[in-house]
Amino acid sequence: MSITLRFVSIEVAELELRPVTDFRATAAAAAPLEHDGDERTAMRARLIRADAALREGRTAEGGTLAQQVNAWALERGDAYVLACSHRTLTHFHYYIGDLAGALGHAVQAVAHLGPDDPAAVRVRHLMTLAVVLGEAGSPAEAASRYQEALALAATMGDHQQMLMILGNLANLATQEGDTGTAARTVERMAEVQAAAGIALDGPQLITVARVRLADGDHRAVEEILRPLTRDPEYRHSTSAALPEAMLTLSEAHRLAGEFSAAQADLDAARRLALERGLRATQAAMLEQQAALYAAMDLHREAYDAHVAYHRFFAELQSAQRDAQARTLQAVFEATEARRVGEHFRELAHRDALTGLHNRRYADERLPVLLGAAVAAHSPLAVAIVDLDHFKRINDTLSHDAGDLVLRRVGRLLTEAVAEPAFAARLGGEEFLLVLPGTGVTAATLVCERLAAALRGHDWTPITGRLPVTASIGVTATADPRVTPAMLLSRADRHLYAAKHAGRDRVVADAADRPGDRAPDRARD
Ligand code: GH3
Ligand code: MG
Ligand code: MG
Repeated sequence: MSITLRFVSIEVAELELRPVTDFRATAAAAAPLEHDGDERTAMRARLIRADAALREGRTAEGGTLAQQVNAWALERGDAYVLACSHRTLTHFHYYIGDLAGALGHAVQAVAHLGPDDPAAVRVRHLMTLAVVLGEAGSPAEAASRYQEALALAATMGDHQQMLMILGNLANLATQEGDTGTAARTVERMAEVQAAAGIALDGPQLITVARVRLADGDHRAVEEILRPLTRDPEYRHSTSAALPEAMLTLSEAHRLAGEFSAAQADLDAARRLALERGLRATQAAMLEQQAALYAAMDLHREAYDAHVAYHRFFAELQSAQRDAQARTLQAVFEATEARRVGEHFRELAHRDALTGLHNRRYADERLPVLLGAAVAAHSPLAVAIVDLDHFKRINDTLSHDAGDLVLRRVGRLLTEAVAEPAFAARLGGEEFLLVLPGTGVTAATLVCERLAAALRGHDWTPITGRLPVTASIGVTATADPRVTPAMLLSRADRHLYAAKHAGRDRVVADAADRPGDRAPDRARD
């Protein structure tokens, strides 16, 4: 069993580190692990499903799943899963355009990682934080996280990761107009690429092309982008890489004064962006069109294109804001519904006066715990606790005084048992203790201590000179033939015997049939 679990958690750890480009295959491999016996593995697998949902545009679903895992990790104090769920929540907030929310989660995603967590995970979390910092207008902070991630990736010899980090660093520098840093970063990309013998991917080629373009080297762009524009994979994918490449080419042609080529690139880019529903690329296209008209001295057309760009951009932003509000609402409602559901479930299982579990809870739990005990060849004990002459307290003092006593008894009962044992109020002044993994001898000891605690408690503030004591009947079994009802009636009979013998005492199974000898000879 433990060997299987170990294998499974290694598997999930391996899946967590698969490249993002394989997210569909990764999610498919993780799916069976969600139903594994190990809850932690299941949560990590669920997070992989959340990541896939976010990448496929099922944003609300991904956000809800990530939120669930986050709540679980928070409750367990599981720092690693907490860190990973914060990273997924970063993606969620990033995708819906909530940069402030994304930044908050990205910081947590790094903060909750410990020194023993895998370096590859730290690299990813640092990158996520850096991307959000860059978008949120903190380029220096972003660059320092990228550098930290880069140093780690270099120690690990992960060239693929290094190229991705360097690409992001170059984009950041271009965005900041720091052409010197951008050019140096692109050179470093070429070195890593040459050393590792790996090709740049589409977005990385675009990065290099834009750096060269910003450097005034528009003649190099076509050459750099050729592997991308000729690659059938990019022609058939729905990603933004090809239209973005055409857009970059168009800009290069415009800067070279080759206006008809620039227009042809732009038309191709527009077709692709429309086909693929890439709204952000369409906005960038209108902006480029305005620039091209201006370069051709077509001022009227340039002005119209400029107006169209601004109108489109404003619509895009308001549509994004609407989508953001709707998605946040959906995730919030799902989280809230679960929380409220749990709250009511918990209420339905609690006794209002004492705060102890109630009879319904006991009726549901006892069969489960008994079944588990029997399966584990381990005994389970139950005790029924009934207060002595309780009527006298109500009659001599008041019903309110009686209530206070019941509350206090509830507290003493809670103190008497520890998980997985529990105490419940069966009704009136009658209580039940359920003690898994406890034989009759140990259970009797627990009950003797409880009786002493009740007897010895200072009741004078509530009852004056009236004592508070209890009679307790206790029994245990490990016999698969014994039902919960049989167990309870045996405890009840012992309780009756305790009352009969003068109250304030514990009566257990007779020594000739100790309940903790398995299997029990059930004579009921
Ligand atoms: P015994 O030692 O034989 O158990 O005597 P007893 O007086 O404890 O037993 P009996 O069953 O005759 O009386 C139980 C009393 O508990 C009767 C009822 O009024 C009181 N009671 C039941 N529920 C509550 C409650 O919620 N609050 C208060 N104050 N009293 C309650
Ligand atoms: Mg009583
Ligand atoms: Mg009673």
